[in-house]
Amino acid sequence: MTFKKTMFITLCAWLLCVSFAHAQNIKVAVIPDTPRLGEPFTVGVKIQGAVPSQLRAVLVTAAGQRLNSALCFTVDPNSPIKAAILSVPSTAQAGPARIYIESGATLVAESRITILDRIFASEEISLDAHNTALRTVADPQKTRESNLLWAIISHTGKDIYTNDKFILPVSTPRRTSFFGDRRVFRYSNGSSDRSIHAGVDYGVPTGTKIKACAAGKVVLAASRIVTGNSVIIEHLPGVYSLYYHLNTIAVAAGTILNAGDIIGESGATGLATGPHLHWEIRVATENSDPDAFVARVILDKAVLSDKLEK
Ligand SMILES: [Zn+2]
Repeated sequence: MTFKKTMFITLCAWLLCVSFAHAQNIKVAVIPDTPRLGEPFTVGVKIQGAVPSQLRAVLVTAAGQRLNSALCFTVDPNSPIKAAILSVPSTAQAGPARIYIESGATLVAESRITILDRIFASEEISLDAHNTALRTVADPQKTRESNLLWAIISHTGKDIYTNDKFILPVSTPRRTSFFGDRRVFRYSNGSSDRSIHAGVDYGVPTGTKIKACAAGKVVLAASRIVTGNSVIIEHLPGVYSLYYHLNTIAVAAGTILNAGDIIGESGATGLATGPHLHWEIRVATENSDPDAFVARVILDKAVLSDKLEK
């Protein structure tokens, strides 16, 4: 073997070692690593050396099914830590699951979590002819509105508007429907349909002031066929709160809000059987239990660096 060839092979071996070492220098923390069905969790990633581009965190079942995924974002420009916020679908199976960290199609790290079980309530809702038509009649405008909403909640931005626990959008504790309710709609023509309630309903009278549940930016303030007067606020990369059936809207797209700012008044616009506020949170498009955001800080920088700096 010539000297040149030997040098070439040595160099290749060294490069392989370096990339292998890089792959070994990725730390992953999942907070909490025992989320319940329908609850959010944060994936922290700390990489020593070159950071692969377009890092993505993916929730994968033990059987290999991908349930939810989100792009990683920079938590702090002065820190090597990246994070992604995900949510367990309320329809997932409880038990062991995995978190993949991917760069493009390459798996660069992996962690394990346990999804905890919970029971969801069942409810039956009878709809009159008007509300039946709102749910069942095909309408190109409904499709356009649904495509626009999907485009908004599919976007993972870069801005971190809040580091706090969320607050409730109304002061009344009276809830008329709960997150994850398994619903049967009884239509006026005798047929029925099933769905899962994506948020929490508060039975408040028309005109009740509605508060932003956390600081953020208004990304939609518009009338929609099914959800009536609607507001969507972006809070964290891929994390949005949604407010439906408002009587009036007091904000416009682009408005920057503090937690507690008034976004409008409750009502019964769109598909509603009475005045109420529908409050929903989306995480990487998945509906996520709002109570989890009130109970704890979803992106806690101190906890993240504590887990990853050890
Ligand atoms: Zn609702």
